[in-house]
Amino acid sequence: MVLRLVFLGPPGAGKGTIAQRLCDSRELVQISTGDLLREEAAKGTELGNKVKAIMESGAYVDDSLVSELVENKLRELGEKGFILDGFPRTGEQAEMLEGILNKLGLKLNAAIDIEAGDQTIVERLSGRRSCRQCGKIYHVKNIPPKKEGKCDVCGGELFQRDDDKPDVVKTRLETYREKTAPLIDYYKGKGLLKVIDADGEIGENMANVETELEGIENA
Ligand code: AMP
Repeated sequence: MVLRLVFLGPPGAGKGTIAQRLCDSRELVQISTGDLLREEAAKGTELGNKVKAIMESGAYVDDSLVSELVENKLRELGEKGFILDGFPRTGEQAEMLEGILNKLGLKLNAAIDIEAGDQTIVERLSGRRSCRQCGKIYHVKNIPPKKEGKCDVCGGELFQRDDDKPDVVKTRLETYREKTAPLIDYYKGKGLLKVIDADGEIGENMANVETELEGIENA
């Protein structure tokens, strides 16, 4: 069965880590709008610089820009399964996604809300490191690389995201609560919502996700 999923949940709950692991074990493609926007920001164009400043403040980037990036990716994917990691993040984006999927003749199987407590979130974000080359996510304590500062997969340099620093994390959590948390009810109303407890260690969290996915596949 081809799975088409949306991942909801606060920053630091583990959406990216779980999405990367699922894509290693299943035929799924991760579409991370955060990664797509970081690529845009790195270009150093006028638009890129604008995107970079917004991301570093902890606010959200313009709905239509993010939706356009997602639409382009989904068109490239064709019939493949996907995980939308960090999109939609506003009611407007959820409506835009419906329009895109309708145009492409595709349907979502589920919106998975990945939840973790505030203390866990702050601890995960402050210890998160990402590979500059391939984007793989690590944590200095919970998921350390074999060699400090280097990616296990490609040997790229690991770095800490500017927006994972404590003052920005506070704003990101507020933005999430105000703009994205209401989508939990939106997808519940559509009968697509699944909630995952991801407050534990990664093996446990993956087992919780797998159980939900098996439920969806066998429904
Ligand atoms: P993430 O990597 O998912 O934590 O996203 C990092 C930052 O990128 C967010 O704090 C936003 O500034 C921006 N961003 C990512 N996805 C979206 C989205 N769907 N809508 C608006 N801004 C986004």
